[in-house]
Amino acid sequence: MINFFRAAPLLTRFVLTSVAFLLPVVLGTILLFFLAQDSLQRETNRSLQSGVVLLDRLLWNADAAAQRAYPYTHGQCDEVLPYIRDLVVIIPDVRMITLIKDGRIYCSSLLGKVDSPLPDYRLVDNSLVLIPSSPINPKEPAVSFVMTHGNVSVASSVAGYYLKNILTLTSQERLIHLQIGDSWIDKTGKVSTSPIKSTLVVNSKHYPYSLSVWLSHDDYLDFMVSHKQTAMAILILFCAVIAWYTYWVTGKPESMKDKIERAIHNKEFVPYIQPYVDSQYRVVGAEVLMRWDDPQEGLVRPDFFIPLAEETGLIIPMTQSIMTQVSDQISPHQKLLSDNFTISFNISAKHCVNSDLLADSLRFLNAFSQNQVRLCLELTERELIENTQEASNLFSALHDNKIQLAIDDFGTGHSSLKYLHQFRFDVLKIDQSFIRMIGTNSVSAHIVENLLDLASRLGMKTVAEGVETLEQVEYLTARNIHCLQGYYFAKPMPIKDFIQFIQQSG
Ligand code: C2E
Ligand code: CA
Ligand code: CA
Repeated sequence: MINFFRAAPLLTRFVLTSVAFLLPVVLGTILLFFLAQDSLQRETNRSLQSGVVLLDRLLWNADAAAQRAYPYTHGQCDEVLPYIRDLVVIIPDVRMITLIKDGRIYCSSLLGKVDSPLPDYRLVDNSLVLIPSSPINPKEPAVSFVMTHGNVSVASSVAGYYLKNILTLTSQERLIHLQIGDSWIDKTGKVSTSPIKSTLVVNSKHYPYSLSVWLSHDDYLDFMVSHKQTAMAILILFCAVIAWYTYWVTGKPESMKDKIERAIHNKEFVPYIQPYVDSQYRVVGAEVLMRWDDPQEGLVRPDFFIPLAEETGLIIPMTQSIMTQVSDQISPHQKLLSDNFTISFNISAKHCVNSDLLADSLRFLNAFSQNQVRLCLELTERELIENTQEASNLFSALHDNKIQLAIDDFGTGHSSLKYLHQFRFDVLKIDQSFIRMIGTNSVSAHIVENLLDLASRLGMKTVAEGVETLEQVEYLTARNIHCLQGYYFAKPMPIKDFIQFIQQSG
């Protein structure tokens, strides 16, 4: 995939680099946000638990004060007043004790003997009451612990000041509330009776109240920024490395091998085909020659890419693709071809040690009717095939299926008579460098005669490559050449032109 973007244009590089940076940043930030959310909720829950412990202690003192003051409800206010005042002094956090009978306050540690109705809130046994305005300091709320027996009640109050302190200590930054009954108090001491939204709630196990906190998205973000700095720094660094790598890879020039792989994927290797004639100038066969139809460079000749394709083994899928394209495009027009029309493919030595060659050849032949087409595989003399058992089996199997073998570029390599014999070549293709010498006085001109003589003694068919002039044609036909191939008759052409060519020559 990354090869596909090698040597990408600057804009594409910029876009890819940005995506490579931003995508993990966004995903990583979302992940960190969820981690921060979880950590903040756990941390806040712990704070609420500690707040509840502090409030329980406060209320436990109020509870104790009420318990201890209760016996004094049997006496007159004047008699018991010093004792309940002592209790207020002795017991921490308690600011006031009030004695109540038949719904009226008759004695208060603060005001002494009184006779006033209860304010407008219900007194239930062992219950808490949140009083918005304390009798000690009307600007502050208070919480009273109320203990009732029959028509007598004792209320012991703690000041809102303590409550505010505990709420502030529990959570300095967040919106925290203490709920008692249907009232809520915040850390500024403000009392509200409309319900407050909350994210986390912790109830006291001992007294009827709860502590709650509301956490907003901003709280989570603040927490993430302040607590996940190292993780964020690592994330940014990691994304920067990925972005840099993407920029580097997309700017790297594409290697030739990458280009060939991409071209195979894009089906840019296409077959050209060059017809050849027999000694009566009838078109009896054609050689398939590969071209690279590069969208940028145009049509590329094989000398440029075949050597590397052979070296890397990519020649095998390329040849397979060419064979399929030829059978797909020619088989619908096969009736135009003469019987036993030979179609030749150039095969690299690597393909011969690959057992696919037989299967590929049979697949090609199966696309045509019987006896309509013969297949010839051309092996260049410059790349000799090792005489292994595997190769020998393959060649026998090819012969058994009437597939011909040609030795290509004959005279330019180092093959011996033994080699020609071992692999039982059916066709000898004389290289164009010798054909070019015909008509000159050079020694090479005589080599052609020797090669033709050798081939006839070995019982091989002969094909002359690169025939360009009438003189060459006459010279070769006079010496009983079987087939002639070259610009004199036809140049390599795309398959659709070849179909037309056959129609015209037929
Ligand atoms: P080759 O197999 O010897 O193919 C003959 C070459 O001579 C072709 O060159 C053809 O276009 C050229 N030619 C044909 N007639 C004439 C002529 O009258 N005059 C001149 N000057 N040239 C002529 P091309 O197509 O450039 O192919 C070059 C070589 O690339 C081929 O030599 C073959 O060795 C290799 N090649 C081509 N296609 C394939 C392929 O599909 N597989 C493999 N393994 N090699 C291939
Ligand atoms: Ca050839
Ligand atoms: Ca040649």
